[in-house]
Amino acid sequence: MASLIAASSFAARERDALTKSIFISEVEASTLTFIRVKIFHSRYRKIRSNLTFPEDYPKEQLVVEITSQGDKGRLGIPVGLKKKLEVEAMEACKKVLEGGRKEVKPDDELTPENSQVLAACFYLKSFLDSNRFVSCWKELKQTASLVTAGRNTIRMSDSTGIILVNFISLPYTYSAQLSIDEGYPSTLLNEVDPLPIKIKVKSTNFPHVIETMITKQAIELVRRCCQGRDPVQALQMSNPIRAPRGFVMPAGEDRSARITRDTIKDLERDRETLLKMKKLKDVDQAKQAHNHKAALNSTKERKDARRELNKLAHKEIERDDELEKKMSQAEIDRAKLETGWQDDGDPVPSLLPTVNFLIDSIVKFQQGTCPVCNEMVLPKNPEDLKRLFEKSPEGAKKTAEEKKARKEMKKKRPVRCYCNCWYHAGCLEAYMTEPPFGGTCQGTCSGGPVHHPDYPEDKRILERTWNSKQARLREMEDAMLFL
Ligand SMILES: [Zn+2]
Ligand SMILES: [Zn+2]
Repeated sequence: MASLIAASSFAARERDALTKSIFISEVEASTLTFIRVKIFHSRYRKIRSNLTFPEDYPKEQLVVEITSQGDKGRLGIPVGLKKKLEVEAMEACKKVLEGGRKEVKPDDELTPENSQVLAACFYLKSFLDSNRFVSCWKELKQTASLVTAGRNTIRMSDSTGIILVNFISLPYTYSAQLSIDEGYPSTLLNEVDPLPIKIKVKSTNFPHVIETMITKQAIELVRRCCQGRDPVQALQMSNPIRAPRGFVMPAGEDRSARITRDTIKDLERDRETLLKMKKLKDVDQAKQAHNHKAALNSTKERKDARRELNKLAHKEIERDDELEKKMSQAEIDRAKLETGWQDDGDPVPSLLPTVNFLIDSIVKFQQGTCPVCNEMVLPKNPEDLKRLFEKSPEGAKKTAEEKKARKEMKKKRPVRCYCNCWYHAGCLEAYMTEPPFGGTCQGTCSGGPVHHPDYPEDKRILERTWNSKQARLREMEDAMLFL
């Protein structure tokens, strides 16, 4: 009993020292036998720990347990890190125990050298402060195993939060530096456009136009995740190609479908009303067969028809106003979906989705075949790919042969469609402008319609263009026959 009182009085001194220590965030609870403390670096880098005093404390070792589950259990401390922190914090306590054999006198100041509580908390705090990967520990491990599954390499520094990834899909390479922000998955930066991960391309042998397309989408993906979008939606929204009309977001509320159904119903009602109105007009205006000046129907019948017509017209105006209001709301809803507008939202971790996207964009792109001709989309030599995108010098006169060669080169350029499949420009041109005018995608996507902003979404326009081209050709053929 005496030892418990001694222990509790010493523990009380330690708790006071802990409360006074400005760098430790908060002593949340304390009893004779334990202290619960919250150690804080930023919103997503924090630890909750239970420190339990053994009966013979401070002669025995303090028991440190990490309990933090994080926000909504999503960004808690993963098991691997929890164990590491517990073992190392208890190591710090052991050092105090081994080094501080001499008695701590009542007037002695408590420090991490003579107090196990302070030693454990100082260790945890300095770990939190110096390790940028605390809030993406598990994600980083998954990322590393994803990256190293192929020939790719990854290097990281926990003190600076820098991750160097090198994606190799020979002969193509893409190296980038990903800097994890202090506030990841959010950001503590006070900039115009702060991001939880900064992406900087270090080197690549992709042409500038392709490299920027990939990198910009990765940056956009990070931004959307930070806004609270789930990675599937974030990826869809980061697509530089605008979604085709009627496209439904893969998750979340299916607003466009609801609007479409309503609109169709309205259109059907419109037709019914028009038919009804036409019949009423007929009643009012019909003339007798043998006398075109005399009305067919009685005055009363015509009057009733006119009254009914008026009523219907009024109703129509009201309904049109309502529909207009609804449609403008629909437009707002659509704009919100397209711009990723969000009322509020917790940031979603973006490291793994971003690296996953980069691997998909680089490795799968390199290995991919064109869905139309089934040949490799990329040339075997990166220099040949660069040449496809080279601009011809301004003012240079080209011979007919050079022009033809250039046209052929342009046809071989890789072009990405909305579904993320890559085509040869010439193959896509043929697929979109000739019957059956861009059917479903035969690439690695789930087979949605082929959509690219260079071609109209409306198949009828493509069809009309093709028809008039054919007509022109026929006319030319006919003209040739007369010559
Ligand atoms: Zn092709
Ligand atoms: Zn596709």
